[in-house]
Amino acid sequence: MPAYSYVSHLYCPKCSKTYSINEPHNLCVCGSPLLTAYDLDSLNVQYQKSSLRDRAPTLWRYHELLPVKKEENIVSMGEGMTPILPMKKLAEELDIKQLTMKDEGLTPTGSFKSRGAAVGVSKAKELGIKEIAMPTNGNAGAAWSLYAARASITSHIVMPVDAPIVTRKECAAAGADLHLVNGLISDAGKIVARSVEKYGWFDVSTLKEPYRIEGKKTMGFEIAEQLQWKLPDVILYPTGGGVGLIGIYKAFKELMELGWILSSKMPRLVAVQAEECAPIVEAYKQGKTSSEFWPESRTAAFGINVPKALGDFLVLEAIYETGGCAVAIDDARILKEQRHVTRTEGTFICPEGAALFSAVRELREDRWIKPNDSVLCLNTGMGIKYPETIEANASVLKPGDTL
Ligand SMILES: *Cc1c(COP(=O)(O)O)cnc(C)c1O
Ligand SMILES: [Zn+2]
Repeated sequence: MPAYSYVSHLYCPKCSKTYSINEPHNLCVCGSPLLTAYDLDSLNVQYQKSSLRDRAPTLWRYHELLPVKKEENIVSMGEGMTPILPMKKLAEELDIKQLTMKDEGLTPTGSFKSRGAAVGVSKAKELGIKEIAMPTNGNAGAAWSLYAARASITSHIVMPVDAPIVTRKECAAAGADLHLVNGLISDAGKIVARSVEKYGWFDVSTLKEPYRIEGKKTMGFEIAEQLQWKLPDVILYPTGGGVGLIGIYKAFKELMELGWILSSKMPRLVAVQAEECAPIVEAYKQGKTSSEFWPESRTAAFGINVPKALGDFLVLEAIYETGGCAVAIDDARILKEQRHVTRTEGTFICPEGAALFSAVRELREDRWIKPNDSVLCLNTGMGIKYPETIEANASVLKPGDTL
């Protein structure tokens, strides 16, 4: 009988040590994040593209390649299968044959963090975990605390005081044990590390928890399936911890191993960061394989305000291996682009997503993107979550006035 999941074990991409999938793990003893391996040889026999045909349009349609072993452990709010929208007017403006946007704003909780939360929380439930703790810039805390509520798991969330207020309210609404820190996500991370040590909670920090990548990887599966297994030439991703980029790269590699992708050419993966928080871009410029801590980082694109990512070496590997690149955009341009894209295409995107379109503009001017390239931007969240990024000037009328 076919298994629900073909997950086999966790492994360390740095030192190759392996770990069991049936007990909770965080980092490898060597300090590296762990990745999830699947028994692709057995799966190959059971699994065809046609297997997907009658499945619901959620990320769980790829359950064979996800780490949850029993269907009954799934905690879902219908996440996944977000639309890929043609951005025709922008394509014309930028002189690109095909410019599309996968809109993750249409995910439960309003950001793509729900993908990681859905899979991470489901696996936590399967492992019998009762309490989780995490540092966050907002969206991850919102997503994890809401999914945890659904799974009857207690969540402890620590976020910077200036993280978007909406995300704070989402955590409160979910009944999370919420705390603010006068500092950065890295400071929140240290508080969480000390607290899990003291109370024995499970640390679900970005990449300290192995299954968030697996959730985010489903963006790659969907891109492939939605585009009839022909991948775009270029994919741009707003990079903080880089989990999505690592995940998409992993997804394409798994699909290629299964022989589902029609070409062996990987899309060129582009990491986009904010100019005042650009550790990956700096490392890329210097041809390095890991990044340095970025002091005093700040940006309105809060989801990518990550001064040092645990998985930086994996992000850089994905960029180098696919012939991609890394680009930094300043906040003034990000906010200007957010308005421009929103009024041109009617898609109210988040600042993180807006940075991508500025990057496309720049890479097109530098001729790194060619007119014939098909280009896909991942808008990672909805603009509605960042009301402070848009000014709404309006006159106040008296009833009976005319415009
Ligand atoms: C978290 C976040 C990002 C960055 O995601 P990573 O996978 O950690 O790089 C980008 N955009 C938004 C809206 C986010 O919330
Ligand atoms: Zn290791």
